[in-house]
Amino acid sequence: MTKRDYYEILGVPRNASADDIKKAYRKLALQYHPDRNPGDKECEEKFKEASEAYEVLRDPEKRSLYDRFGHDGLRNSGFSGFTGFEDIFSSFSDIFEEFFGFGGFGGRRRDRTSPRRGSDLRYDLSISLRDAAFGVEKTIEVEKTVQCSSCAGTGAAPGTHPETCGMCRGAGRVVQQQGFFSITTTCPRCRGAGTVIAKPCKQCRGSGRELQTKTLKVKVPAGVETGMKLRLSKEGEPGERNGPPGDLYVFLHVEDDPFFQRHNNDIVCQVPISFSQAALGAEIRVPTLYGEETLKIPRGIQSGDVLRIPGAGIPYINGRGKGDQLVQVIVKTPTKLTRQQEELFRQLAALEESADKKGFIKNLLH
Ligand SMILES: [Zn+2]
Ligand SMILES: [Zn+2]
Repeated sequence: MTKRDYYEILGVPRNASADDIKKAYRKLALQYHPDRNPGDKECEEKFKEASEAYEVLRDPEKRSLYDRFGHDGLRNSGFSGFTGFEDIFSSFSDIFEEFFGFGGFGGRRRDRTSPRRGSDLRYDLSISLRDAAFGVEKTIEVEKTVQCSSCAGTGAAPGTHPETCGMCRGAGRVVQQQGFFSITTTCPRCRGAGTVIAKPCKQCRGSGRELQTKTLKVKVPAGVETGMKLRLSKEGEPGERNGPPGDLYVFLHVEDDPFFQRHNNDIVCQVPISFSQAALGAEIRVPTLYGEETLKIPRGIQSGDVLRIPGAGIPYINGRGKGDQLVQVIVKTPTKLTRQQEELFRQLAALEESADKKGFIKNLLH
């Protein structure tokens, strides 16, 4: 399935500022808002499309991923867009509040009695450089609050039920007359819940929630780097009053490797070679992420020179191609010589003395 370009959807240039992007989305959200176009499928689609575009372009991290790798890059990083209106309204409630003066759905103000989306959770996951290169499936344990199993989230002791608050008759709000004004405030008795619990559940002490450890599998795609995050949809905290759950964000940290360093998608390493290998050329075995490779050292190479093994680097997260491995050759000066080696070096030095004034061995020995 092809997807439209996010910038095109919002009608902004690729270098648009955060403010321009917000203005463009506000205009479209007003135009296609489902409350204004009830039952109009095309408007619904347009509203969803614009909301997804805005969700990506307002977040600098997602925007940069999209700029570099397009829709594929986002998908590989775990972004899945919105599941429906509820999802959009709960994610953007603060934005709609700002745009329209209400939380977005049916013009209702969000108060303590309406459903509320659960919080997002963060989990920090460390992986090795190899796992970042090849992708990996990790099992993680996440502690989150869930509905209490004893009272099914009501907070009332089993066998009892929360009772309608007598003070506000279940409205959660009370109206107070002060002179000419009537002021509506949150009910002080039930704190806006509309119900009171006479006998709290023992297991959760009336909160309706308890801590639970959940085991989850996380699929880390190949090519990730530190700072990327994966979204596990609906694995955050549960919503309140039947609201949708939040999401779980897995933040990735790629550990340092003792041998390989990473430069974007290239792998850099240093390999020692001897004087004679440098002078005469050689074939050496070099470790790569994919196993050992034979590397041809050209005759006369200098210490610090860099050789390239194409395609031995980290795969691009969009699945197209890999970086290279850059091998920096370090010529090792021998620190201990056998008698025979010493003899040969001295012969070499003598030769250089008479013939080649620029010989490097002479310079090193004197
Ligand atoms: Zn309970
Ligand atoms: Zn009340």
